[in-house]
Amino acid sequence: MSHIAIIGGGAAGFFAAIAAKETNPHAKVTIFEKAGRVLAKVGVSGGGRCNLTNSFEEITDLKQAYPRGDKLLKRLFKSFDHKDAYRWFEEHGVKLTTQADQCVFPVSQDSQTVIDCLTHTASKLGVEVKTHYALEAVEPLSDGRLEARFKAHGSETFDRIIVTTGGSPRAEGLQYLASLGHKIEAPVPSLFTFNVSEKAFCSLMGTVVEPVSLSIPSTKFRSQGPLLITHWGMSGPATLKLSSYAARYVSECDYEFPVSVNWLNETNASIVEERITGIIAKNPKKQLGSVRPYELSGRIWNYLIERAGLSPEKRWEELGKKSINKLIETLTNDTHRVSGRGTFRDEFVTCGGVSLKSINSNTLESKLCPGLFFAGEMLDIDAITGGFNLQAAWTTGKVAGSNRL
Ligand SMILES: Cc1cc2nc3c(=O)[nH]c(=O)nc-3n(C[C@H](O)[C@H](O)[C@H](O)COP(=O)(O)OP(=O)(O)OC[C@H]3O[C@@H](n4cnc5c(N)ncnc54)[C@H](O)[C@@H]3O)c2cc1C
Repeated sequence: MSHIAIIGGGAAGFFAAIAAKETNPHAKVTIFEKAGRVLAKVGVSGGGRCNLTNSFEEITDLKQAYPRGDKLLKRLFKSFDHKDAYRWFEEHGVKLTTQADQCVFPVSQDSQTVIDCLTHTASKLGVEVKTHYALEAVEPLSDGRLEARFKAHGSETFDRIIVTTGGSPRAEGLQYLASLGHKIEAPVPSLFTFNVSEKAFCSLMGTVVEPVSLSIPSTKFRSQGPLLITHWGMSGPATLKLSSYAARYVSECDYEFPVSVNWLNETNASIVEERITGIIAKNPKKQLGSVRPYELSGRIWNYLIERAGLSPEKRWEELGKKSINKLIETLTNDTHRVSGRGTFRDEFVTCGGVSLKSINSNTLESKLCPGLFFAGEMLDIDAITGGFNLQAAWTTGKVAGSNRL
């Protein structure tokens, strides 16, 4: 009997196993999982609610959601996209709901529903799951089969191996694939918060400003969305998105870099100038602190006035050209120094992994080792938050598993 090994019992591994068994019903399909239990990350995903995909309604270009892997996914989505994933889960008994922000969750609001669905579906098909099996190496044999070596369990031979071991910031974990000739894009973290040591900024903790645009000066990296100010610096969707877009760049900067905040999300300075001039004309005798341009909270507005070197008690009519320019600059290009990334927030993914240049983009089979396939976050594919990472796991798992033996 042919035997297909799935290495890693995560989202991609289960989807690969289910597809492999459906495509090759006579083959034995086994999931080998390093840990004591499977689908642990699905369990904690979306704060335990599992944001399993997205409607993609706000995505006009896949690069917005997938800073790495957009082109490959565009091709693979023709086989299995978010609508297919939505349908698949509903057909397998998981009722779904799409939130106003386009994120898709189970109606149960409980990731266990997704875990139960995947484990029951796999078990009904006859997929075997072996836990405490950590793959250490793969070796192609002369008869075209593959030998896998497991820690503390010795070696087993398979007709096909689908590796879905997830993201990891440690490149050593992929060394056995590098030694087979695969190109490995250095793994670095993505989706993290920014540390800002400036006291006045952090004293605004708990404030959400929505929407802002963030950018890294002298680069093309920019993001938009709500900014959450925390006691350690910047968080919230705009920050996480920027960390994803610039993941490799900021790693190369050793997480020391400037971030410019456009508090108004308005790039046209002359529009801002018009607004300020309008306020001056209407409220010449009023104090700066008492008239807020745009919908900034009093706390943020007072902070920005002082950051522009002005006093909230100053009257609008007293502002000279220089002060007006400084105020506009502070509102639209307020640069802060980031010194380090948040490490305790655990919702991060890995940028990097097995290079897409090393795999066949239709089948996800290795170009260097026939019979060896890859899926999930271990590939150099990762996304911003919003259900896009799990969607990539479903899609790549499904495609890798659907190849006929
Ligand atoms: C806290 C948190 C919350 C998240 N929330 C969301 C969300 O709501 N929506 C979303 O889209 N994404 C979310 N993500 C990202 C998403 O969970 C991952 O991108 C996705 O789970 C990746 O699936 P995977 O199957 O590739 O890898 P994983 O789920 O990491 O599975 C890999 C499996 O392989 C096993 N393994 C590793 N090495 C070996 C080995 N050598 N031998 C055998 N087994 C091995 C691991 O133990 C693991 O079980 C979240 C991530 C985190 C950390």
